[in-house]
Amino acid sequence: MAAAALAPYAACEQQSRGRRYLEAPARFRGEYQRDRDRIVHSTAFRRLVYKTQVFVNHEGDLYRTRLTHSLEVAQIARTVAVALELNEALTEAICLAHDLGHTPFGHAGQDELNACMRDFGGFEHNLQSLRVVDELEAKYADFPGLNLMFETREGILKHCSVKNARQLGDVGERFLQRRQPGLEGQLANIADAIAYNNHDVDDGFRAGLLSLEQLCEQELFAEQYENVHARYPTLEDRRLIYEIIRRMIDTVVTDLIENTRRNLAAAQPGSIEDVRSAPGELVMLSTEIYERHTALKRFLNQHLYSHEKKLAMTRQAKLIVRELFLAYSGDIQCMPEEFCNRARPLDAAGRARVVADYIAGMTDRYAIAEHERITGC
Ligand code: MG
Repeated sequence: MAAAALAPYAACEQQSRGRRYLEAPARFRGEYQRDRDRIVHSTAFRRLVYKTQVFVNHEGDLYRTRLTHSLEVAQIARTVAVALELNEALTEAICLAHDLGHTPFGHAGQDELNACMRDFGGFEHNLQSLRVVDELEAKYADFPGLNLMFETREGILKHCSVKNARQLGDVGERFLQRRQPGLEGQLANIADAIAYNNHDVDDGFRAGLLSLEQLCEQELFAEQYENVHARYPTLEDRRLIYEIIRRMIDTVVTDLIENTRRNLAAAQPGSIEDVRSAPGELVMLSTEIYERHTALKRFLNQHLYSHEKKLAMTRQAKLIVRELFLAYSGDIQCMPEEFCNRARPLDAAGRARVVADYIAGMTDRYAIAEHERITGC
C-alpha cells in the first residue's frame, strides 16, 4: 500500500533525528508505525484503562477512562493529520502516548504527588510520560524504555521547565532555545484539549453534574443546541446531547484545519526544521473559536472539575497518594522487590523518585487496594 502523501513540512523518517539506540529498520512497517505499536504493547498503555480521566474508574462503566480518552484524542488528531498531509502514524503515536505518565486519580493524583515531591524536583505527568517511554518500560533486551523516534519523544514532551529541560538532552533543547515542536506534536496537544472539552460535557451530563440549562450558557454548545433542536424538536436528552457534541467537535476540528491551512500558507515552511524555528506554533484554532473553546474549558473547570461531588473524590484521592508516598518513603521494603532494589543504593531524592515512579504507575483500584493493605483502612 502506498504511503499517504506528506507535505514538505510534515515529519518524515528520512529526515528524522532517529532513535537513541540504533536499530535495524523494520521490514514491513514505517518507523513511526513501529513506535505506535510499541506504545500499544506497553504495560503503561494497558494500565490507562483503569486510570481516572475525570470520574474514578469504579464510579461507572460508561465514563471515559484515560485509555478511551487517549483513543479519542488519536482519532481526532488523525483526521486533522490526513487533511493537512501530516504524518498520521507519528500523530497517532504521540496521542496514544501523551498520558502514559499520568498518576491514578487524574489531576488530583498528579497534584498531590507533585506536592509530595516538592523537595525532590517535583512531579509532572507530562515529563513522566517521557520517562515511561525513555526509561521505565522494561521490555526490550537491547535498550531501556521503548527507544522511540526523536519526533515521537518531542511530541510527548508538551511542556517542560527550563531546569528540567537542561537535564533532558536533545529533547529538552527546544525549551532552552524557544523553538517549536513538529506539527504532529502541536496537533496532538490541541486534539487533547478538543477531546476532553467535548467528552467531559458528555460525562458531566450523564453523571447529572451538568444541566442542559447550564450548558446552554456556553456559545459553542448553545449554537449547536439550537441547530439540533430546530431539526429534531422531540429528541430525548441522551441523543440530543450526542448530536450537539458531534457538531461541536466538527465545528472546532473544521476550524482547526482551515485556520492551520491559512497559517501554513502564510508561513510557507519548507521542512520540519522551518516549523521548529517558526516564531510560534502553526497548528492553531482561529481567535474566535479559540475563545469559545477556552470559555467551555473554564466552564468545565468551574462547574464539573470543581463540583462538590468531584471534590469529595479529590480529597480522598489526595489522601491515598500522600499516605502511600509516606509509607513507601518511610520503608522502601513496602514496595515490590524491583522498585525496592532500584531505590536501595540511592540518596533521598533518588529514592523519592523511585517511589513517585511506583505510585504514578498504579491504576486507581490498585492504589486503593495498596492503601488499604498498608493503612488497614
Ligand atoms: Mg490527555
